[in-house]
Amino acid sequence: MTLSKPTEVESPVATEAASVSHEAALYSSSPRSSLVLGAESSPIILPHTHCTIRPQVRLARYTSYRVGGPAEWFVMPHTANELAESIAWANKHSIPVMFLGAGSNLLISDRGLPGLIICTRHLRHSSFDPATAQVTIAAGEPLPNLAWKAADLGWSGFEWAVGIPGTVGGAVVMNAGAHRACIADILLNTQVITRTGGEATLDATDLNYRYRTSNLQGDLSRFVVQATFQLQPGYEPAAIAKKTRHHQTHRHRTQPYHLPSCGSVFRNPNPYAAGWLIEQSGLKGFQIGDAQVAERHANFILNCGKATSNDILRLIRHVQEEVEHRWQQWLEPEVKIMGEFEIA
Ligand SMILES: Cc1cc2nc3c(=O)[nH]c(=O)nc-3n(C[C@H](O)[C@H](O)[C@H](O)COP(=O)(O)OP(=O)(O)OC[C@H]3O[C@@H](n4cnc5c(N)ncnc54)[C@H](O)[C@@H]3O)c2cc1C
Repeated sequence: MTLSKPTEVESPVATEAASVSHEAALYSSSPRSSLVLGAESSPIILPHTHCTIRPQVRLARYTSYRVGGPAEWFVMPHTANELAESIAWANKHSIPVMFLGAGSNLLISDRGLPGLIICTRHLRHSSFDPATAQVTIAAGEPLPNLAWKAADLGWSGFEWAVGIPGTVGGAVVMNAGAHRACIADILLNTQVITRTGGEATLDATDLNYRYRTSNLQGDLSRFVVQATFQLQPGYEPAAIAKKTRHHQTHRHRTQPYHLPSCGSVFRNPNPYAAGWLIEQSGLKGFQIGDAQVAERHANFILNCGKATSNDILRLIRHVQEEVEHRWQQWLEPEVKIMGEFEIA
């Protein structure tokens, strides 16, 4: 393994004893090797690649909430080979691995996350096959780009995705959706890399898709590398572009895109929408620190400037308790809450 000079290293953030642990606990149980971890570590260049694994990288700049402490180790591979080498490196040192796409559905603890965080944003390619109208897209491609590319071709199927600021990988795992459509409607199959470096192709039926979830969620042994979708060709590009633009405009009118958020915080229970229950509980505008229940859409919690992850989680808890008190309905978070927090 080659050691390079420390460059572009983010400030290390001290971690304290934890009181509450969320999903990170799922992937923090691997035995540690003798690798020197923590603030003193230097960036590491993976052999035969230009790919650098960096220690103590602040995750706030990689999440749409603009909050989150440091990743113990962080890498952004550009190619499948760099991705495979990154996983092999984590295996060699027996440290946990988590994938991060656009970070648009994550609340990461102020204390950060253990192990190697693999950000997929540089894994970019897309191929549109005119013979079949099938589209194969790498994990790191942003959904809005695809919506517009499909519109240019006059292919229908991705119009609903224009306002969702996630990547293909995150969308496949989350079964992202909007405007009564979702990934499950168009996914044919997805190629995954396993924790041991193997590859597999999973059909959509293997993913057990349900409302905003799949059986890849919380699965830390299989990660999405690319996905193939079936679109419907033969439309006037202007007609598809019009529908896409309509969805985009509608969302910007009804949802607060002007401040950092994770989109809808809670899953919609039946029969009432989470936003309606929160609004009826008088919580619009309610604020803890710089975290605020949005005035424009009560299922959004905004970072109004200097909110911490802890502020946001405290506000999530407050909303859950108030809505339960008034409606006897416990709202389940849609946002993935990762790491150790000061409050329950
Ligand atoms: C303003 C705004 C509006 C939004 N509107 C919507 C909406 O209308 N509908 C909707 O469904 N969502 C919406 N979202 C939420 C979010 O954009 C989606 O959930 C999106 O699919 C998350 O993708 P991501 O790349 O950001 O995933 P991340 O947030 O980075 O990760 C989400 C989960 O997926 C895992 N993951 C990410 N990539 C991979 C991969 N390649 N392989 C394996 N696991 C992976 C992560 O580990 C994590 O558990 C919105 C968010 C914002 C900020």
